[in-house]
Amino acid sequence: MSAALLAGAPAAAALLAQARQRAGQLPHAPGLVMVRLGDDPASTSYVAGKDRKAQEMGLRSTVYALPDTTSQAEVLALIAALNVDPTVNGILVQLPLPPHLQPDPILNAIHPDKDVDGFHPVNVGRLWSGQPGLAPCTPLGVLALLRHYHPEVPGGLALAGRRAVVVGRSAVVGRPLAGLLLRENATVTVAHRQTADLGAVTREAEFLFVAAGQPWLITPEMVRPGAVVVDVGIHRLDREGRKPQLLGDVHPDVAQVARALTPVPGGVGPMTIAQLMLNTVHAAEVQQSSDHRLSGQLAPA
Ligand code: NAD
Repeated sequence: MSAALLAGAPAAAALLAQARQRAGQLPHAPGLVMVRLGDDPASTSYVAGKDRKAQEMGLRSTVYALPDTTSQAEVLALIAALNVDPTVNGILVQLPLPPHLQPDPILNAIHPDKDVDGFHPVNVGRLWSGQPGLAPCTPLGVLALLRHYHPEVPGGLALAGRRAVVVGRSAVVGRPLAGLLLRENATVTVAHRQTADLGAVTREAEFLFVAAGQPWLITPEMVRPGAVVVDVGIHRLDREGRKPQLLGDVHPDVAQVARALTPVPGGVGPMTIAQLMLNTVHAAEVQQSSDHRLSGQLAPA
């Protein structure tokens, strides 16, 4: 068997087209503010990529690039001002933060209605209790990728009633993905670093989602023949004299066992930014609707 490869680019393009179309129906262009602290090269490049995409989409994108000497109080004051600025619909603080800053109080200060990363505990609660809210971009992007390819892949990619295994339980990928899969009516198991006999668990999966941050953790004998495998991992391998190589959490030979597989690079990767654009448009739709007032204790008087 050779798996159908689920490339991210066409699915991301479809998501962006949807975001652009919905943004065009709003009274004001959606406003996205990204806050970046310090000069971490990966964070600088991620934020620049998101800013570029937002500009291309006709969103109002603003980047606050603050020095790594910025205090916790200064970051909180900036977020408080953005929370009540009606031209700002989405706020994102790029992680990781410099070591002197505490991420939880900073992320918790973002108004839940503007929390386009979906990390605020109110949004986590909304996701697990089945209420409308904002959810994290990578897991939403994974589901959008499966929806996109559902009509094309023999046997389809519908999740209802299927056995899904998620490897990884981070707040960014594994946990919210498990919550979203449950919403899709899959039967969900979450494996993690302390799971005994990981292979026995992953072989149960009709849909296997891997976000462990371990290069090539999943090998062909750990995969049920005919499974759908989604690889969220990304690792850069630098070897002297060679071009840097990007590896996933899933060994490429899994393509010989699975019926569908996301490649690395070029699978889940492009979905995250596309979903951020859609989350921003969604936040703007809610906030720009005529009867909307910011919900919760952070609303202006
Ligand atoms: P993390 O390090 O925060 O979490 C990893 C999780 O995997 C943990 O819950 C841990 O318990 C589990 N784990 C680690 N080793 C394991 C093992 N041997 N067996 C079973 N479980 C194990 O990582 P994260 O932020 O969730 O990211 C995971 C991967 O996804 C990374 O490679 C990251 O770069 C990538 N990622 C990609 C995107 C994207 O847009 N494509 C977005 C976010 C993260």
